[in-house]
Amino acid sequence: MNTFLPLGKYSFGMGDRFAHQGKAQLQACILATKLGANFIPVWNKSNREHTFIGTEPASTRGAADAAVKALGWTQPYHVDADHIRLETVDKFIPHSDFFTIDVADSIGKAPPAASLAAFVTRHPELIGTIAIPHIDQPFHTTREYVENIAGKFLLAVQEAGVIYRHIAQAKGAANFITEVSMDETDSPQTPPELLIILAAIADEQIPIQTIAPKFTGRFNKGVDYVGDVKQFEKEFTEDLAVIGFAIKKYGLPASLKLSVHSGSDKFSIYAPMRRALQQFDAGVHIKTAGTTWLEELIGLAEAGGDGLEIAKEIYAYAMEHVDEFCAPYASVIDIDKAKLPSAAAVNGWTSAQFVNALRHDQKNPEYNPSFRQLLHVSFKVAAKKGERYLNALKKHEVIVGRNVTENLFVRHMKPLLLGQ
Ligand SMILES: [Zn+2]
Repeated sequence: MNTFLPLGKYSFGMGDRFAHQGKAQLQACILATKLGANFIPVWNKSNREHTFIGTEPASTRGAADAAVKALGWTQPYHVDADHIRLETVDKFIPHSDFFTIDVADSIGKAPPAASLAAFVTRHPELIGTIAIPHIDQPFHTTREYVENIAGKFLLAVQEAGVIYRHIAQAKGAANFITEVSMDETDSPQTPPELLIILAAIADEQIPIQTIAPKFTGRFNKGVDYVGDVKQFEKEFTEDLAVIGFAIKKYGLPASLKLSVHSGSDKFSIYAPMRRALQQFDAGVHIKTAGTTWLEELIGLAEAGGDGLEIAKEIYAYAMEHVDEFCAPYASVIDIDKAKLPSAAAVNGWTSAQFVNALRHDQKNPEYNPSFRQLLHVSFKVAAKKGERYLNALKKHEVIVGRNVTENLFVRHMKPLLLGQ
């Protein structure tokens, strides 16, 4: 296996769309670490987000370095080129030390027949009864099954190998962390499929440290998990068992762990995840992004005056462009349009009404998940406001920052690792 930059056991991916919340986000890691939940911060931003907002990868690195310096953070931290592909990776290479290689588009495309045949021949251990420690029922597979699954994923993994080697050549293999993501696709990957995928990744000599499968159920943006929590827990637990097995069997990095994308706000699965992680003493990478942008809006609304005014303007504009804003996110949002208040109604709201509708507190009767999801996908509106939005963030830095920190620390890090 190639050398690599090691990643800590627990890591927390944070998106900071407007690059103003680095300190508030890092503060959450500091608070969690004091309680023994040692999260390594990873600032992630995808090419899509950079494009929508009009920023460059250097700005993510600059904000991360500045936050670390300001708060005196002495542990590792990383900057993740999120969901990159061969055609988008180059501009991230000087600034990132964590690369999320997204090959979901190639899932289901047929690999060359010869390489598929070679894969199946090289891996007789994948055929028959596969007993994996901590999985009650061994997997039973046939040659046909392995051919079928490898036929679906092998080309995608080979493409990940091409992108990995491209980065390694430019940056040096020892200088970065590799994640492979397969979450932005139609159907979830089962634990036996994950094993086949990991065997293929090992063949490509990719020193993978995080893998983001698509899990069962819906991972909508900024709201809770929707699906069968019991089934999720079973699959998540089996995925951990498969990873432990694959590390030994294929010589993958011992730090290899699951990466949970759209991991913010999935409150109903944090306890099941925590149980499974404890059972295996396994690490995890939680990737969040837009949850911080929503806390900016909450903080501005809470500040009242010009802050509340700009939050209302953003909602009004979003309402005028509902279909346009929602279209690119159709598979990761569930908005009930009948539940969206009119812009006129929202214009009459107090700070408390806006905050209650937006903040992810399911116990609050005024919490409105449709309102929250629409604003989640409407960050472009804030980008359009340019300096006016950024100046509002600066003016209300304390109240915004307090919301950003509390959201990550209280609602995410504590229940995930500390069970409180
Ligand atoms: Zn993702």
